[in-house]
Amino acid sequence: MPTGLLGILTYIIIGGIALLVLIKTFAKPAKCSVCGTEAKDLYHDANEKSVHLCRNHMTDRWKADFLASATNMLVIEPDFKSCPLGYLYASPDTLRTWQYPKEAAERVAEMLKTVAGKDCAQCGAKATVGFYRKDQYDIPQFETLPLPESYLCKKCAVEKIAPLIRATESPLSEGLFAPSSEEGVYHVQEY
Ligand SMILES: [Zn+2]
Ligand SMILES: [Zn+2]
Repeated sequence: MPTGLLGILTYIIIGGIALLVLIKTFAKPAKCSVCGTEAKDLYHDANEKSVHLCRNHMTDRWKADFLASATNMLVIEPDFKSCPLGYLYASPDTLRTWQYPKEAAERVAEMLKTVAGKDCAQCGAKATVGFYRKDQYDIPQFETLPLPESYLCKKCAVEKIAPLIRATESPLSEGLFAPSSEEGVYHVQEY
């Protein structure tokens, strides 16, 4: 009898803990690590750590990280209507790790090489971004990526992209990525 009772008690305690964990995970939304308001978005910083931030603090943080980067990159204008889950940054090596075909990674590397030596189409400063309109990217076919529509500096690129991030309606639950120190491509998450 005591063992039976103990068994039941154990189940009740374990069940209670599991319920608490579930309630904590699902009922309570994450809080922005800066201002403490509800945060549905996830930011992946340069050290690949995930931080919960509200939309405004996430956009501001991304702008700062993006502007601080001196790395050449491709930036594909996000189509958050079709692909609302995330805006990812990946080097050609990372694309291979993510199971993209070899040709996709090679095409991205090839297009990255075209950025060097260009001037920003908007302000004339040194360009570090190969910019694509969203309709130039046949998600997820990097293999068929054409030449960038234009070359931009980080400042002019951030002015095109940051308002789209701030305005998108669904949470970026898969995350907004900070740029890494490796050359790479910004693109939406296709699934
Ligand atoms: Zn906040
Ligand atoms: Zn510029």
